[in-house]
Amino acid sequence: MTVATAGEFGLISRVTARLGAASPFVLLGPGDDAAVVAAPDARVVASTDALVEGRHFRRDWSSARDVGHRAAAANLADIAAMGARPTALLVALCAPANLQISWAEELADGLAAEAAKTGATVVGGDTSSSPTLTIAVTALGDLEGRAPVVRSGARPGDVVAVAGRIGHAAAGYSILSRGFRAPKLLVDAHRRPEVPYHLGAVAARMGATSMIDVSDGLLADLGHIAAASGVGIDLRRDAFTLPEPMLAAATALGVDPYDWILAGGDDHALAATFPPDTELSADWLVVGSVVAPSSVTEGDGVAVDGRRYAGGAPGWDHFR
Ligand SMILES: [Mg+2]
Repeated sequence: MTVATAGEFGLISRVTARLGAASPFVLLGPGDDAAVVAAPDARVVASTDALVEGRHFRRDWSSARDVGHRAAAANLADIAAMGARPTALLVALCAPANLQISWAEELADGLAAEAAKTGATVVGGDTSSSPTLTIAVTALGDLEGRAPVVRSGARPGDVVAVAGRIGHAAAGYSILSRGFRAPKLLVDAHRRPEVPYHLGAVAARMGATSMIDVSDGLLADLGHIAAASGVGIDLRRDAFTLPEPMLAAATALGVDPYDWILAGGDDHALAATFPPDTELSADWLVVGSVVAPSSVTEGDGVAVDGRRYAGGAPGWDHFR
């Protein structure tokens, strides 16, 4: 059955039925004109991100469930990167009339399952017909009394640390682009990011001075912190350990794996800066330090071993 035969209201009721899960944050769930979500902190953290078929995902590479996981993760990671706890997602699905209703149902399953990892739920949405399959998600979050961790707080002397996978999704994308389907670790990383959501709030409690999720590539995203904070960042290439499947794939494809690590996005790892005396848990990998802006004169404020990183494509810029 296609979404056209189910009709808009048939589609909405079938998808809504899959969202289930109660949450203490949801005072009124799907089914009314709007949902009502608790905001215990009185400040609501909000972010939105759209996934467009052909641009962000391919239906021959990723299942509907994978796309749901990824669409939710991209948004939930933004909330975590503010040091907040995700509370709710809203989803707009714009789909061609011939989309199978089962695809939309499995998309909902993926969205709900990824949101559940953070304690958030899907509280509402909208559907429209569209020639291009598009999933637009809005995420809401709660600061639980903490100050938001913004991009502008990094200071020279801070350490730069990352939590989560780096370069995996980009490697998976390269592998799929060349027509391969393995190693599974990397291909799966492109399909579904594994985001250490809870570490966003942990970083905030530990006094992180700035934070961002790595969606466009480590160099590009740390560049946003460098620019917003008015600092330079120097990364150490030897801080990164490359998993064996990544080394093997890089060799097979004739690619420098550091291009994936430094310039590849979509893993939604958390990258943060901390005061130098912060005792970081093993969840965090220290990869560099914050320096005076004058000591990084090239490479958009982010250097690797003191130099502009010459390899790889720059991070995603969707309009470039
Ligand atoms: Mg982000």
